[in-house]
Amino acid sequence: MKWAIFTFSILAVLVTTACVFASQYTNLETNSNVTTYIEDSKFPNIEIETEIGEYARYNYAIHFPKTKNDSINKTIKSFVSEQRDAFLNHAQTLKETDEHYSELALDYEITYLSDNILSIIFRESTQFIGEDTQENSYTFNFDRQTGEKLNIEALLIDEEAKDQLAIIAKRNILQNPGVTYLTENFEQDTNNYSFFNFADSTLNITFDTNLIQQPSGEAYVVEIPYCKLNGIIKESYLSSQVQKSSNETAILSEEISNTEQKETTSTLIPGEKYVALTFDDGPHHELTPKILDILKKHNALATFYVLGNRVQCYPDIVKRAYEEGHEIGNHTWDHPQLTALSQEALLQQLNKTTNLVASITGEAPATLRPPYGAMNDTVKQLANMPLINWSVDTLDWKHKNKQKMLEIVRNTTKNGSIILMHDIQQSTADGLEDIIVELTNQGYKFVTVSTLLQLENRTTNINGQVFNSASNL
Ligand code: ZN
Repeated sequence: MKWAIFTFSILAVLVTTACVFASQYTNLETNSNVTTYIEDSKFPNIEIETEIGEYARYNYAIHFPKTKNDSINKTIKSFVSEQRDAFLNHAQTLKETDEHYSELALDYEITYLSDNILSIIFRESTQFIGEDTQENSYTFNFDRQTGEKLNIEALLIDEEAKDQLAIIAKRNILQNPGVTYLTENFEQDTNNYSFFNFADSTLNITFDTNLIQQPSGEAYVVEIPYCKLNGIIKESYLSSQVQKSSNETAILSEEISNTEQKETTSTLIPGEKYVALTFDDGPHHELTPKILDILKKHNALATFYVLGNRVQCYPDIVKRAYEEGHEIGNHTWDHPQLTALSQEALLQQLNKTTNLVASITGEAPATLRPPYGAMNDTVKQLANMPLINWSVDTLDWKHKNKQKMLEIVRNTTKNGSIILMHDIQQSTADGLEDIIVELTNQGYKFVTVSTLLQLENRTTNINGQVFNSASNL
């Protein structure tokens, strides 16, 4: 099978096909050769239109989205018609054989849908009698307000943004030593940015294999987190409300085995009282550094249960936290309820985050905090590390009140407690110092979760076990 230059190999693992979520369809037209119909899609206000042509020597099946915007529909329709007509024109010239016929399959995937953006990838597979199958991909990005098809220039704030985007792309490419430049400085020419699409947390730009090559022979895709595009791409294209649940854009990455836990047992002294402060859902660009400053001032260690999709925005903050002695725990890639995921999706959530953290700190997370504390046997088994809930819930996200947070901590903390907070809450950053002072006055010392666990089952394998506190203390 020959892959054409615009192939999106990464996206080939995506699960969505146009028909999966269809719940009803209306038959529009049937003649001897061509059938068309419309179905619901899983996206609001978008239907799936299908056209199937069946002839003696060739057939085709085309799926494409139908929106509420005429201008978008016109662009899409003219594209699919062109593809179909080009196929038919060639197929009709080929000689009939008994066993073979020509075939076209054109399907699509919506990679992103927000108030302002519709991002689509079409995948086309063509086979003519006596020829190899050709696979092509085509990307379309629309402004849903204007109906306009967007090129990369339309996204950029100004001329300077072009250079900034080129710098980001170049840096990304240089991080992959296997790639070969075929054209010098190609990243400075925005004409080379024609194939881009919006994904859940990244803008993905695919470069032509005539410009750059990697050992696998696949087209090179630069994935840029949206947080790095502030000031480069117009805000309306970055900040609008996403209209679907998160997609599984992660590639199953190699599992990094947990490195040995740090030798910190000696820091635990019998007779002393210990607690573990934990901060979930970060890192936050402003509040996490503030929290780190407070922890440093009081010589306190804590555990940060980070989200992979935020880590990619703020790797330096994670690096700082790690270097200052704090534990970086896994809180998944983008905070799904793990009990609702397939095993594959679950592993993606865990491994992608683990790999990213390990690439920044050099150490894989040793503990997992499942979002919402939700877990079952599958989660426990696949986690392959201790699962950490909490015994003191500050409810900081709910009341956003530092006084209430202090009262809860003061009244419910015991020796061995694991205290749940969120480093994305202003009130938490504001109230942390009072909590540290209060607990210090009560005689507590602050250690990481992994250190606290060392007083638990010291001899047994604790992977897959759930801890709310260190109850042996
Ligand atoms: Zn969380």
